[in-house]
Amino acid sequence: RAKAMGKARSEVFEPAIHDRAIARMQLEIDLRRALEHKEFMVVYQPIVSLNSGRVAGFEALIRWQHPQRGWVSPAEFIPVAEETGSIVPIGWWILEQVCQQLRTWQQHSVVDSRLTVNVNLSGKQLTQPDLAREVKQILHKTGLSPSSLKLEITESVLMDNVDAAVTILQQLKTLGIQLAIDDFGTGYSSLSYLHRLPIDTLKIDRSFVNDIDCDPEKIEMIRTIVSMAWNLGINVVAEGVETKKQMYQLQALRCDYGQGYFFSRPADAEAAKTLKYFEIRGSRSSRRSKQHMP
Ligand code: C2E
Ligand code: MG
Ligand code: MG
Ligand code: MG
Repeated sequence: RAKAMGKARSEVFEPAIHDRAIARMQLEIDLRRALEHKEFMVVYQPIVSLNSGRVAGFEALIRWQHPQRGWVSPAEFIPVAEETGSIVPIGWWILEQVCQQLRTWQQHSVVDSRLTVNVNLSGKQLTQPDLAREVKQILHKTGLSPSSLKLEITESVLMDNVDAAVTILQQLKTLGIQLAIDDFGTGYSSLSYLHRLPIDTLKIDRSFVNDIDCDPEKIEMIRTIVSMAWNLGINVVAEGVETKKQMYQLQALRCDYGQGYFFSRPADAEAAKTLKYFEIRGSRSSRRSKQHMP
């Protein structure tokens, strides 16, 4: 993307590219103001046990209501926020919001005490030297138990520098929080490094789940990922579950959890807190002890 920008700069005389460069600069400016103007909100998407139907957690996802443009997708503005660095304050803001929200739900007993909340961590945040201290401070400030928080880091970010990632993840684990690898399977990396990473959860990228009906190779890959994760004591979430058929197949593959439009779209906090169980007919007994994986 940096290259694309450089190209745009050298060809500003071409109107379409010029317009794009202006739009991009405007986005950067607007992003910088969005926090203080309170234009962000958090939505929550349930992560459902494919064994019991219980909502085991939520993934927190940021939403931006732009004063002129309306809702802007995170797919559009997160990469820009990453490049300009504004993802860092935005990231702390969302983390605090989410910790505060779960703490409030817990205090009012509106959620199961085992429920965890997932927050996405960008690559830029991961390289902040004070990352662990900042996370610790937010937990302290909000009073949320570290075990209720799970940070999601995409596979590609971890693979950039596995050694550095191991060190940082270990620091985070020391706090008592949980860690997940996001968009797993898209990094084209070998699975062999996984045992080095102190992670609790693998989230299989939705491209695998999408193709589950038509691509036997993807099914085999999910099977491999699940059995490897099981050997490492890691649980598996399938992202992007959109149909009942996909859910059944994931159950048959012994995938622990599912997340996707089939269960629920990301919802605002008020709507999300009412989600407790989903109908998962066709469920079978867990391959793990009920005590450990209810
Ligand atoms: P992600 O972390 O992999 O989040 C899952 C994305 O898949 C979300 O998109 C979610 O709405 C979408 N999704 C969930 N179920 C389905 C489904 O069944 N079908 C389809 N087609 N999509 C589904 P969203 O909210 O647009 O976020 C996109 C990406 O932006 C996220 O991918 C994440 O990488 C990033 N992002 C979102 N919120 C944050 C945040 O607070 N901080 C950071 N650093 N990144 C964020
Ligand atoms: Mg995620
Ligand atoms: Mg993901
Ligand atoms: Mg993603």
